[in-house]
Amino acid sequence: MTTTPPPGEPANPILTEVLARFATTSNPRLREVMLSLIGHLHAFVSETHVTWQEWEAAMDFCAKAASVTGPGRNEFIALSDSIGLSMAVLAASQPKPPGATEPTLIGPFFLDDAPTVAIGADIANGASGQKLYVSGHVRDTAGAPIPDAIVNVWQSDDRGLYDVQDNFDPAHMWGRGRIRCDEQGRYAFWSVMPTAYPAPMDAALGDLIRATTTRYWRPAHLHFAIQTQVADPLVTHIFARGSQYIDEDVAFGVRPSLIADFVQHGPGLAPDGTAMAEAFATLSYDFVLTRPQ
Ligand code: FE
Repeated sequence: MTTTPPPGEPANPILTEVLARFATTSNPRLREVMLSLIGHLHAFVSETHVTWQEWEAAMDFCAKAASVTGPGRNEFIALSDSIGLSMAVLAASQPKPPGATEPTLIGPFFLDDAPTVAIGADIANGASGQKLYVSGHVRDTAGAPIPDAIVNVWQSDDRGLYDVQDNFDPAHMWGRGRIRCDEQGRYAFWSVMPTAYPAPMDAALGDLIRATTTRYWRPAHLHFAIQTQVADPLVTHIFARGSQYIDEDVAFGVRPSLIADFVQHGPGLAPDGTAMAEAFATLSYDFVLTRPQ
């Protein structure tokens, strides 16, 4: 659709008028955010001399992102991740003391209704890949276990796909589950080894990345979201040490403290006593949560 360029008025009188109107916003936090955002956007337009054609392209870009956004996929989150914005918000809003597990972005594939499974259960539910046993504890920064913490995990299979990207059936989720820790704050589950995967490149994010950085991979990782009655919630990943692309995550989510060893084992007994006829992997990781101040 062709649109008409705005009248060529100087930017400052317009900005002054806009800010005056938004200054009447009754919610003080919303007023603060909107006045700052509008001011920065106007400054950006002025500084970079955005053309009308570029503005139209930006609007089309947003529409393209919206067109693929829905349950199980949020292109705007992926775009935020791709310019480091998600990690910047986390760093500013969830500073962690030394020893606490660092947060990282939630990504676009979280579902809040994953199946609840018992400690030690297999969340793969048909996901393909080498068997992986994951275990550890949820503790606070003083070392005390946090009983009954809910560990929500989701991941890709060995093709680099999430269930929501593969003929998704809400009645048959795979590679995701919720585990309630025991009295010692212990969690464990079976799954499959995650693998590196490309960010979805078929819409707005793909257009952006192809035209700019050309880096669109995520190193192999598991996603975790941990909720408890007593500690601050935590959303993070655990990355596989040695994974391809560990130094060029499209989402800027890798932190050294979140890289762990996914240890390879030959056939034999798994940590939970399961006799494994084929090679498998294990990951042991303790999550350290902060208590509300
Ligand atoms: Fe992921």
